[in-house]
Amino acid sequence: MLLGIERAVVEDVRVELETIVVSVRPKAREKHRCGVCGRRCPREDSGQGRRRWRALDLGTTLAYLEADAPRVYCKAHRVVVAAVPWARHDSRFTVSFEDQCCWLAVNTSKKAVAELMRVTWRTVGSICERVASEAIAQRDLFADLKRIGIDDFSHRKGHRYLTVVVDHDTGRLVWAAPGRDRKTVEKFLELLGKERCAQLELVSCDMAESIAVAVGDRCPNAIRCVDPFHVIQLATDALDEIRREVWNEARRAGHKRVAKELKGARFVLWKNAHRLTERQQHKLAQIQQTNKPLYRAYLISQQLREIYRVTYEEAVELLDAWLAWARRCQLAPFVKLAKTITKQRPGIEAAIEHGLSNARIEQVNTQLRLITRRAYGFRTPEALIALAMLTLGGLCPALPA
Ligand SMILES: [Zn+2]
Repeated sequence: MLLGIERAVVEDVRVELETIVVSVRPKAREKHRCGVCGRRCPREDSGQGRRRWRALDLGTTLAYLEADAPRVYCKAHRVVVAAVPWARHDSRFTVSFEDQCCWLAVNTSKKAVAELMRVTWRTVGSICERVASEAIAQRDLFADLKRIGIDDFSHRKGHRYLTVVVDHDTGRLVWAAPGRDRKTVEKFLELLGKERCAQLELVSCDMAESIAVAVGDRCPNAIRCVDPFHVIQLATDALDEIRREVWNEARRAGHKRVAKELKGARFVLWKNAHRLTERQQHKLAQIQQTNKPLYRAYLISQQLREIYRVTYEEAVELLDAWLAWARRCQLAPFVKLAKTITKQRPGIEAAIEHGLSNARIEQVNTQLRLITRRAYGFRTPEALIALAMLTLGGLCPALPA
């Protein structure tokens, strides 16, 4: 009970150096089961003899379980180490130890987990992988998917990407994998299956042609939407391009003070106009005074955000007006953006018509970025995916007992 183990018989408890070692064996009916599928199998040999598993500490003392680790012969999995009721297959930790590690990884700081559990952060990563893959196998995460978002984001420098799938109705992460091409998206649609693909009512994604084609091919009933998030991102990028241009100009012309001002203005320009502090508003007023093109670019990009704040009918009108404005604004990045938006207009309008909440998409995106930063130090992208699924996929185990 103290160690949080069940279906096992305790044979002996002893103190060894500064640790407690508990000898156990599985109860008779738990013996000789395949470590992978759990089926009862004939015993093969005694494997590598006695093994130890790290258990939850007993008070302040490290504790280990010790037991035989025989191998069995499974028809499906051949010769494998037999399952034990207290640990997951291939793990050096008990189930309750791993569950607690995951719970902490989701709910506390990196440093807290590693120090409290006395394991490395890298080990926490492999534990997350094991726990998440078990949870995914036991649950049907794809049940009742109707409105989903497919997105990608960079998880590492050097163009390493993940593709993620989010359920728009629950805000949950339902799938993630390394890569961001058509093949990755097709892998997901393959897993989802033909019938469930046909049940999808709405699929949102960025403006990439490849994803749109894959979705169009396999999801005959889905309306394709462009995520508002990406539209706003493009406007922000265009604005930043202009900011950099005028900054470079000012620097070249030797206007040090202006250059400095512009450099610090980045955040003010990016931010939602409704959320500016008094000081930031002052900064904006300065830009309006000293830099007409940049202020114009700012207004155009803010105006584009408005289409997501009004009714569908108003948004269509607003978009017409916005496109007309952007086309003749004489700011090259926005003229280009107007072209892109004209091309993507059906998808952009569909997102507004079907009430796709940008707040939620942005929230998931922000959380994914935070998790990515936390996952720094993990060995594989799979460990990052596991932590994301535990955190945003609702797969985090409860604390033991
Ligand atoms: Zn098996």
